[in-house]
Amino acid sequence: MAPQKLSTLTDYQTLVDKYDTFLFDCDGVIWRGSTAIVNVQATLSMLRNRGKRLIFVTNNSGTSRKDYVTKFAKLGIQASVEEIFSSAYATAVYLSEVARFPSNKKAYVIGGSGIRNELHDVGITTIGEDDTGPVNLATLAEVEPNPDVAAVVFGIDYDITYRKLANAHLNLTLNPGCLFIATNDDRTLPGGKHVYPGTGAMLSTLIHSTQRSPLVMGKPNTPMLDCVMQKYQLDPARSCMVGDRLDTDILFGIKGGLSTLCVLTGVADEAAILDPVAPQATYYISSLGDLCELAAN
Ligand code: PLP
Ligand code: CA
Repeated sequence: MAPQKLSTLTDYQTLVDKYDTFLFDCDGVIWRGSTAIVNVQATLSMLRNRGKRLIFVTNNSGTSRKDYVTKFAKLGIQASVEEIFSSAYATAVYLSEVARFPSNKKAYVIGGSGIRNELHDVGITTIGEDDTGPVNLATLAEVEPNPDVAAVVFGIDYDITYRKLANAHLNLTLNPGCLFIATNDDRTLPGGKHVYPGTGAMLSTLIHSTQRSPLVMGKPNTPMLDCVMQKYQLDPARSCMVGDRLDTDILFGIKGGLSTLCVLTGVADEAAILDPVAPQATYYISSLGDLCELAAN
């Protein structure tokens, strides 16, 4: 069925009545960069006042859940650590609970403080942060695999260097059993002005050099879906995933058997949403902020 456009108060009311749990993608739905989407605070308060459960699911591994709470608060949105599920947190949960990461081993991380802090919180030691110095053909022999490394973890890293890539490559190809985990594989990263290379674009360097396929945690992939379904015990029939991207958020919802709502404040435009070969959202709406009209009713 083609996605249904929601534009009237009756449409909004029907949507809100139909679901107990709303899962929200963050960038493009709740905010764009560091600016909240207009009226989104009022929409979220209205949903809370009506007893709805809110869960925030982001592929951005650059910020830890604790720091997200601060970001939400700065934007005037109340959210708790337990309501936030990021690809960095999913990676930490996977490594500690599913892979049973050995306490005497280390993770070689290409990524920033968001992913490192989540891994530290579950007791995993990380290395790689200081591998920033230049390297050339003459000094390459300095780069050696570390036998203590049991996983290479790849997330967004704005300070990525050849030295880090060479280290990760050696650990992945020379350490027997070394896991290869990526927080997400978003092709692009929507910035304030343009669209930039995403985590997946940089990850493809290592996939090509090692000829290995990482386990990718983030939306739309199954590991994050399994973690979210298990943690929140979702009833798919009463849950709706709200997103701005068809290939990550909407596909994630579809895979989980959830209803989906695509907004027009981020990546997807109306033509993309209505393209019959794209993942089909159940509904679409101009902005999540529009639902705040229900607050007055
Ligand atoms: N990855 C990075 C590094 C980002 O900065 C963003 C958005 O800001 C994303 C992924 C996508 O995040 P979301 O899943 O909240 O749209
Ligand atoms: Ca998004």
